[in-house]
Amino acid sequence: MATDYDAPRKTDDDSESIEALKERVPDKLSGAVDVEDADNPSGFELPGADLSDLELDVVVLPPQEDEFTCVNCFLVKHRSQVDHEDSVGLICRDCA
Ligand SMILES: [Zn+2]
Repeated sequence: MATDYDAPRKTDDDSESIEALKERVPDKLSGAVDVEDADNPSGFELPGADLSDLELDVVVLPPQEDEFTCVNCFLVKHRSQVDHEDSVGLICRDCA
C-alpha cells in the first residue's frame, strides 16, 4: 500500500516542480530586469547631487583631540580655527 502511494506521488511532484520552474524562471528574469531598470535612472541622476553628500559623509568622522566640529557649518576644523564658543558649541572663524 505504501509503495502504491509512493510511485504516483513522485511522478506527480516531478512534473509539477518542473512546470513550476519553467513558469517561474521567466517571471524572475523579467522581475530582475524591472528592478534594475527602475534603479538605473535614479542612479544616473545621483552623481551630480552626490558631491555634497560625499562631503557630508567625510564630515561625520569624529573629530580628533585637536579638532572640533563647527556647529554652524558642521565642518571638522583644527582648534586654531575656533573663533568662539556659542551656547550650542564651537564656531569656526569662517562662520563667525
Ligand atoms: Zn563653521
